[in-house]
Amino acid sequence: MPARQAGRPAVPPAMAGPGRAGRARPGPVCEGGRVNVVHSPAWPGRHPRVAIVGGGIAGLAAAWFLRGRAEVTILEAAGRIGGKLAVGEVAGMTVDVGAEALLARRPEGVGLVRQIGLGGELVGPGTTAARIWTRGAFRDLPRRQFMGVPADFAELERTGILSPEGLARARQDATLPATPRDGDVAVAGFVGARFGAEVVDRLVEPLLGGVYAGRPERLSFEATLPALAAESRRHASLAEAAAALLGPPPAPGPGGAPGRHDGPRPGEPAADGGRPDSEPGGRAAPAPAFATLAGGLGTLPSALAAASGAAVRTGAAVRELARTASGWRLVTGPASAPGAVDADAVILALPARPAGRLLAGVPGASPAAAALAEFEYASMAIVTLAYPAGSFPRPPKGSGYLVPSADGHPVKAVTFSTVKWPHLGTLPAPGGPARAAAGAGGEPADRAAAGPREPATHIVRCSLGRAGEEALLQRDDADLIGLAAADLAAATGVRGRPVAASVTRWGGGLPQYTVGHLDRVRRIRAGVAALGGLAVCGAAYDGVGVPACVATARLAADQVLGHLAARPAAAGSRTPGPERGGKWGHDR
Ligand SMILES: Cc1cc2nc3c(=O)[nH]c(=O)nc-3n(C[C@H](O)[C@H](O)[C@H](O)COP(=O)(O)OP(=O)(O)OC[C@H]3O[C@@H](n4cnc5c(N)ncnc54)[C@H](O)[C@@H]3O)c2cc1C
Repeated sequence: MPARQAGRPAVPPAMAGPGRAGRARPGPVCEGGRVNVVHSPAWPGRHPRVAIVGGGIAGLAAAWFLRGRAEVTILEAAGRIGGKLAVGEVAGMTVDVGAEALLARRPEGVGLVRQIGLGGELVGPGTTAARIWTRGAFRDLPRRQFMGVPADFAELERTGILSPEGLARARQDATLPATPRDGDVAVAGFVGARFGAEVVDRLVEPLLGGVYAGRPERLSFEATLPALAAESRRHASLAEAAAALLGPPPAPGPGGAPGRHDGPRPGEPAADGGRPDSEPGGRAAPAPAFATLAGGLGTLPSALAAASGAAVRTGAAVRELARTASGWRLVTGPASAPGAVDADAVILALPARPAGRLLAGVPGASPAAAALAEFEYASMAIVTLAYPAGSFPRPPKGSGYLVPSADGHPVKAVTFSTVKWPHLGTLPAPGGPARAAAGAGGEPADRAAAGPREPATHIVRCSLGRAGEEALLQRDDADLIGLAAADLAAATGVRGRPVAASVTRWGGGLPQYTVGHLDRVRRIRAGVAALGGLAVCGAAYDGVGVPACVATARLAADQVLGHLAARPAAAGSRTPGPERGGKWGHDR
């Protein structure tokens, strides 16, 4: 586990900062804040020009997949690239204030990190064991559950998550006739019909909330739990369907206890942000379920931008998209000083609504624009708190905890960042060397026993805001910090005030895959494909997690390359087609 200095990004010097993107070869360079760029230069005899709108992880990954095959310009509205990936400083430590964990079971995220040469920066979690804080106590998440859908009622009973009545109702799943389902349905409708409301409220809601910040009453069963939705067609009992996906229970450990491991557990999310995406789905595997970068996942965007060789323009909000005789024109900047970028093809790596707004002005794009306008988004805030380790009566246990909405707390998930990511604890704490205070001077016995593994300062990441809770997020920073700290104290008994805190607001942070999502995405993709030379990617489509966004970026890059290759070749221009290597064999 490499020890890192606070604030130093995990980026090789040659890749440091989006401002250096584009130096790998001639072409426009990143100019943070400049908006009135006239157009990308024509590159006679060179690759076609592709404009990518949106410099989040999807747009940046698309640029990477296009490298060497197109001259790419990324247009980003904000003053920085990265979108929902960002680091901030709290108590002298550099921590993620947006996405923090890569689901390692999907190859796209960690694969991309390795391809751009950052494999050595990948670090695994110290633990991924999350709990649920409900009915007044911490309860272990059952191991035999699939995104909260239970597969083992005896184990569920031991956790105490459900009331006796709730448990009795859940057991009826075994004997109820199959629940008819015609087309897509809401998660709460189907799961509730099988197990009753408590399973939805106390298990499925917090787990799905950890991914989408969404409401099971609105979320699509087919889109958010696709493997379970498919498997459930083969079983009357949903618990049986979940068990079939989880595979056989782990072999008994020594002394007959169920075998435990601290690695991945099917159905297990990180407390607030390990996104199982299209479900954990797989059978238990030995590798850690999640990974991050030593300097924070938020350091990935600048490294990716630099590695892609794309020209990056920040402060370049695109407000119009129009067809030209040979491709597309994008209008950026304010109406008083507009700029235009011409391109042979365009990738919209945007959240649904801005993508829909741009498409609304394109003849023939109305159906796709209308489908994009149907999307709902959930807003949230990450409140990061720093506490001296001695403030906790007992060292924080596990990676964190989830809180069912039904329990009425403002915080929906807590990550004990310095426990989940032990490398953070090796960073210098304010006013002293790393880990200096661990086990020192008159602390409780269990703290001293924790020895040097406990850091001097604990970073606790609190996630607030579920779909429909926008009013909560209107409160000022001090209020949100107070709410988060009070909730944490009620749950853990932490004493005193945090020594440092930060609030990061993510307005419209997560798309809601509501009922009908899959059909909506089909309509968008069909409408966009019909336009030619245009593709979409990002969190709105096939999964909100970073690996899923990377997969959509790969698809979008292949789509525009396919289109460009099919065009009649302009004299002297090279229009290479999509990558022919293996799925991830994109290296030159
Ligand atoms: C708080 C939080 C925690 C999360 N935690 C995790 C996690 O731990 N693991 C995980 O895998 N996923 C996590 N996610 C989800 C994941 O981070 C996002 O789904 C993903 O980063 C979205 O990437 P994107 O490129 O699709 O969109 P974005 O990151 O939203 O990027 C889109 C970009 O487009 C820009 N833009 C918008 N309009 C325009 C315009 N008109 N012109 C130009 N640019 C424009 C925006 O400024 C933005 O930079 C988390 C999300 C949130 C909000």
